[in-house]
Amino acid sequence: MNLIAAAARAYVYSGDWVADCPRIGCGSVEHLYERANPRQPNSPRVAQKPEFHCSYCGQTAPIDWPAQLAEITAILMLRPVPHTRNWYPQDHDTAVRFRVPHGQSVEQLQEENVEHGVPAGAVN
Ligand SMILES: [Zn+2]
Repeated sequence: MNLIAAAARAYVYSGDWVADCPRIGCGSVEHLYERANPRQPNSPRVAQKPEFHCSYCGQTAPIDWPAQLAEITAILMLRPVPHTRNWYPQDHDTAVRFRVPHGQSVEQLQEENVEHGVPAGAVN
């Protein structure tokens, strides 16, 4: 038995940073940012959670964030339609299963923006 939980791999789905529960067979997805006001369902998600916690099965795990978290977020948020804001790390199980792009670089996300008439966004 492996006592060290697999990390929860952060990805962007419809503009929100989320992660699939790493427990095999659970299948739950959790938001990785807390809302500014937990009592207001529409308040912005501003505070990064320190670790993954599954509200369904109770699993906790470290979160595997991409090195370019800030750049990825900034470029995706330039897209006006929320369901076009998506990013998965390389070989992410969900992306592979649903045959959607994964492991896209910041530059590739910028190219997608330009292809759709959205500003590329500046990267430091
Ligand atoms: Zn779970």
